[in-house]
Order: sequence, then C-alpha cells, then structure tokens
Amino acid sequence: MTTVNHLINGELSAGGSRHAPVFNPSTGEAIARVALADVATVQQAIAAAKAAFPAWRNTPPAKRAQVMFRFKQLLEQNKERIVQLISQEHGKTVEDATGELQRGIENIEYACGVPELLKGEYNRNVGPNIDAWSDFQPLGVVAGITPFNFPAMVPLWMYPLAIACGNAFILKPSERDPSSTLLIAQLLQEAGLPKGVLNVVHGDKEAVDALIAAPEVKALSFVGSTPIAEYIYAEGTRRGKRVQALGGAKNHAVLMPDADLDNAVNALMGAAYGSCGERCMAISVAVCVGDQVADALIARLTPQIKALKIGAGTNCGLDMGPLVTAAARDKVVGYIADGVAAGAELVVDGRGYSVAGFDNGYFLGGTLFDRVTPAMRIYQEEIFGPVLCVVRVNSLEDAIALINAHEYGNGTCIFTRDGESARLFADEIEVGMVGINVPLPVPVAYHSFGGWKRSLFGDLHAYGPDGVRFYTRRKAITQRWPQRASHEASQFAFPSL
Ligand code: NAD
Repeated sequence: MTTVNHLINGELSAGGSRHAPVFNPSTGEAIARVALADVATVQQAIAAAKAAFPAWRNTPPAKRAQVMFRFKQLLEQNKERIVQLISQEHGKTVEDATGELQRGIENIEYACGVPELLKGEYNRNVGPNIDAWSDFQPLGVVAGITPFNFPAMVPLWMYPLAIACGNAFILKPSERDPSSTLLIAQLLQEAGLPKGVLNVVHGDKEAVDALIAAPEVKALSFVGSTPIAEYIYAEGTRRGKRVQALGGAKNHAVLMPDADLDNAVNALMGAAYGSCGERCMAISVAVCVGDQVADALIARLTPQIKALKIGAGTNCGLDMGPLVTAAARDKVVGYIADGVAAGAELVVDGRGYSVAGFDNGYFLGGTLFDRVTPAMRIYQEEIFGPVLCVVRVNSLEDAIALINAHEYGNGTCIFTRDGESARLFADEIEVGMVGINVPLPVPVAYHSFGGWKRSLFGDLHAYGPDGVRFYTRRKAITQRWPQRASHEASQFAFPSL
C-alpha cells in the first residue's frame, strides 16, 4: 500500500508515527494510507516556510507570476492524472473532477496577474512637498486547512494567490483524499517554486492545532464544516492571527410561478445531486411559491431522480458517484430516517441503492422529500448528501423570510422570468452568493467567494480581490525631502493643512 507523505522544504517526508487509511469510495477498499503529522513535523514545515520567506518576499512579483504561469501549464498537461486521483479517492465523476480542476486553474490565472494586483496607491503633494503611498506587503508564513469535497480546487483558492503575493504557505489538506492535492503541490515545485515556499502537511486535529498555536503563522484560511470553522476562527483570532473560516451551508432555490420550469428542473437536478450533494453550494432546499409550482416540480423531478446514472466515479458518463466514506453515507441515511419520522413526505427514497460489481461502495440513490417544514432537522441541518427537500410557501416575501431565518447563508438562487422579483430577492436576501436563474452561483476567480451568517467567520471572502487583501497588509508611507540647509522649527500642534 502506498503512503501519502508530507512535502516539506521541497522534499517528500514521512513525519509522525500515525497514519490514516485512504479509501476508494466506489469499491470500499483502502487504497493508500496518509501520514498524520505530529507537532514536530508541523514545526519543521513552519521552519522551512520561515526560512524561505525573506528571499521569496523580495523576488519581483513578475518573477513570482512566471512560476504561476508554468504551474498552470503543468496542471493542464497532467490533467488526466489529477482527475483520476480525485475520482479515485473522493468518488466524484471524472467530468465533475475535471470541472473542479478547471475552476482551480482559474485561480492560478488570476494569481498570474499579481504585478497588477499588488499595485499600490499613490498621491503626490498630500501636503507641501509631501507624497504618500500605500503598499501591499505579504504577511509572512500563512496556512490553509481544506475539506475533502474539493481536494484540488479549494487549496487552489488559497496558495497560488498567497504565494504570488509573496507569502510562504503551509497547506493542511483533508486526510480523506490527499493524493491529488499532493500531486498538484509537487507540480508547483516542478514549476520552479523555491523550496520551502509551499509545504504540505497531512494530518488531523493535532496538525491543525499546531498551526493555530504557532506564533510564526500569521494567517489561517479554512474551508470546512461550521463547528470547525468557528473553532479555528475563535482560536486563531484569540492569538492575534488573521482568519477567514468558511463553513457549512443549506442552500435554497426559490421557484416562482413564472419560472421556466423545465430548465429550472434540469438546473436543480445538477445542483442538488451533482457530486452526490457533497458541495457547499449544493442546492438542498427547493422553496416553491404556491402548491401548483410544488406539484409540477415534484412531478418532473421524480422520474429524473429515479433515472440518475450512478456508479464508480472513475467511469465516464455518470451523473453521480458514491459518498466519500461509509460514515458519510450512514449519516445521510440517518437524516432520511429522521425526515420520515418527523413527518416529511418521502417521494423518492435513495436508501439501499447498489451498483452491480461495486457491492462495497458507499452508494446512495437520489432522495426527494416533500412538505418539509422549518421545524425538521432535515431542514435545519446540512445533510451533505443527495437529498433535496421541498418546502411550500405562499409568496416571494415568505420565501425570503424563510431563507433569512436560516442560520446558514452561503448560496441561494431564484428561478423567475420577472425582473422585479429577481431584484427584490437579490436586494433583500441575507446570503453571500446569489444566483438569478443560475443554480450554483460560485463566483469566478476575479470575484471573491464567501457566505454570510454561520457560513463564514471573518471579514474577507476567499480568493479574488478579497484574497489579495487577506494575504497582504497595507503599509502607508508618507515621504518628504526637506530642502538642504533649510531650518525647520518644531511643530507641537497636530500636523494639518
Ligand atoms: P471538516 O470540517 O470535517 O474538515 C475540514 C478540515 O478540518 C480538514 O482538513 C480536517 O482535517 C480538519 N479538521 C476536522 N476536524 C477537526 C478538528 N476537530 N480540529 C481541527 N481541524 C479539524 O469538513 P469536511 O467534511 O472535510 O468538508 C465538508 C464541509 O465543508 C461541509 O460542511 C461543507 O459545507 C464545507 N465546505 C464549505 C465550503 C465553503 O466555501 N463554505 C466549501 C467546501 C466545503
């Protein structure tokens, strides 16, 4: 069995005596084991990053961008290898893994523009013969902790931009599907990144806590579930670190009576069941305005859900693969039982789904609930599986009030042909990312990604312009060159014009 090791100071290294198995969720087999870093291993990575930082910080941004250009090319050349690794360990389909990688590469493309992104602000003559400018300087050693559900894309939200801005980075990827993440990091090394500027330490809470505790780590980017996001935000900020911690979600799609229903149904199918619902932007609640919309939606969705093509993620032409682990599958099964017990109407039951030849895979069929109410756990909590809940309301205002009352506020969307409804929705909804006839409104790399309420702890969103702000600190410089031999008296009043 292969061991997935750490990448420290440009070298693969086995650090720590503990390991965790990595499964192929389509077969249920353990296909590798991943090293779990202990505190000493994390400290080695921190020391390597700290040593690499001064030279990297002073490397001209255009040179740093050149490394990113080569990195992008290497990822494109190695696309198939990376995609296979994602599918093998995560279970998502090859087509979905390809999309994930492409969206990750777009963040590298954005980072290639770093000379432009780091342009400061300048004013001449803010006072007599006084000029002022603001500079955006790197923080030093920064770290990222990422979830299993996008092993390629989410790390690429973080380190290309952080590194292009002149920081040294330590990545702690998910221990559940670490191989594609490691391969991508090795390709950045191959692209010419100096040793120690990017380090990867695999691990669990022990490694994360070591990163939080280390005074050398100036900022933490986290993406994962809300309880851990909140923990990392609280512990990191308590130690004076800059933290952006993106958490879980419960994303609602509103269907108005004037929506183009056929297109909305197709969009919902992909948004609810794509990647087995294991996306933080997955639509898990359809809010139907009026019973007519709900009845028509359910009539159209039901046959499509039953016809979902489900199989081993590494095969092509499928709609859905397995869930990531047996525990994840069992958790979703538990939610389905809970919904039934709470009185929701189970229209399509995905439990007990099997795929021929893959008897031990963690499969589940698509599931649909009708007449879900806000009091039910299946409405309140993030299920993170292929389960769509239909909630019926009487008006757009009721839909908005329902969504605004939910603890999460990551993404949402509305299907309508009416501009006034769309505008009201976009204005009033308390959610960070909004789609209008767009089911998965994941911002492109040159905007920034982030939710509201308990979907994000911190001030700045991930990647894009907010990413540049997060990974740099402003320095305001005021300059004056007094004329030689001029005599200047002390000035005790606060300087002003
Ligand atoms: P998770 O919170 O279990 O793990 C995320 C990371 O935190 C992993 O690297 C893990 O090793 C680490 N971790 C786990 N337990 C820890 C602990 N007790 N102390 C310190 N570190 C710990 O999340 P996951 O299951 O890997 O990913 C799914 C979750 O991520 C979902 O809730 C999903 O909504 C969320 N997510 C959010 C976004 C977003 O942008 N908001 C994007 C992707 C995923």
